[in-house]
Amino acid sequence: MKAEESGSVTRRHFLETTTAATLGVLAANHPAPAAGEPAAGMKYRRLGRTNLKISEIGLGCASGLRSQQLGPEQFNKYREALPMIAQRLLDHGGNFVATSASYHDTEEILGRALKGRRKDVFIFTASGKKDAKAVIADCERSLTRFQTDVIDGYFGHGGWSDGFGEAAQTLKQQGKIRFIGMSCHIPEKHRERVEAGLVDFIFQPYNYMNLAKWTEKTDRVGTEELFELCKKKDVGVMVIKPMTGHFIPNWAKQTDDPKVAGLLTELKTVGKQNLYQAFLLWVLKNPNVCCAIVGMGATQDVTENCAALTQKFGALHERLLEQYAALATGDYCRMCETCVPTCPAGVRIPDILRYRMYHQNYGHRRDARELYAALPAHQQAPACTECGQCEQVCPARLAIVRKLKAAHELLA
Ligand code: SF4
Ligand code: SF4
Repeated sequence: MKAEESGSVTRRHFLETTTAATLGVLAANHPAPAAGEPAAGMKYRRLGRTNLKISEIGLGCASGLRSQQLGPEQFNKYREALPMIAQRLLDHGGNFVATSASYHDTEEILGRALKGRRKDVFIFTASGKKDAKAVIADCERSLTRFQTDVIDGYFGHGGWSDGFGEAAQTLKQQGKIRFIGMSCHIPEKHRERVEAGLVDFIFQPYNYMNLAKWTEKTDRVGTEELFELCKKKDVGVMVIKPMTGHFIPNWAKQTDDPKVAGLLTELKTVGKQNLYQAFLLWVLKNPNVCCAIVGMGATQDVTENCAALTQKFGALHERLLEQYAALATGDYCRMCETCVPTCPAGVRIPDILRYRMYHQNYGHRRDARELYAALPAHQQAPACTECGQCEQVCPARLAIVRKLKAAHELLA
């Protein structure tokens, strides 16, 4: 692994490591409760027609995927921390974990970690397979890995297929799963399954960067309508990527920018955890949302996230999110594809900007290069003639030409 491919796992750690030198390390305000001590602040909501009472925050395991892509050292660090993270969440009153058969060995790790506490936790896991037999095989393996007889929520990972639906019904009849759902990024695809009555719950990305004032007309406009539909159909809404999917803001490095310095100074004063808590509170103030599924890389993340639930979304949170969004917006492609039909050269603009984000913001450098290399040469950045038509239609006003050049330098 190249030196540049190693690095921090999460944006939270990125901020800690890049700003600590200049701003000083901030003390945590909310220690964890002792084991057995009642959890302060945790609240519960009904997950639609499943009638499960779900904690507002649960543990997602995509952080492990990221750490895997950052190399064996970070991967093993995450795997070692995961049992303690799960235990800490339960100690705080959290009552569910969500992962997938394809998220390396997180099911096994959680299965061991939750041994003896199975009654305290709802298990959500998934198969991304499309063939019914393969889905059933995935589920049987998940049951073994979790050391359980039943999975509480079983969902199609990354979408729905007839094969998944058929397998899920069989598994439900056999008593191996209790409720059926799906995860997907596109509200319209969820709508179809919700309308058809096929799902009891959904995993939908939702965060301030998608739906804040400056994006609501151009991005994910169907999400709020989807949530309304779910309410009508009594389908539980579980939010993924509540903190933007760990979009590491480049501005965090630009401490000579007065706006960046202003936000970092404010975070130093109020505590950096307030920014992450603001993201969570913004999601949870939507009454149509049941819970936020949060990737956590350390027990301290659990403590800080749960501490958010003792607060109400207020002026400070709004101000921090607005500042964050204003700083990050010029670097954040919404993947709306508005630019695609305008490009006479056929450059795959959103894909290239996404791979650039994987490299630069997520730290997935190797993957990003491989994905870029897989694009046909005539769709890569050098095919751009700099006609500027894409920039005229981009609702986010991104400097696309400059970003494409930068992406090519990073990825080629
Ligand atoms: S500036 Fe480049 S990427 Fe944008 S539309 Fe023109 S050729 Fe396509
Ligand atoms: S570059 Fe702009 S128009 Fe193109 S996908 Fe991204 S946000 Fe949309």
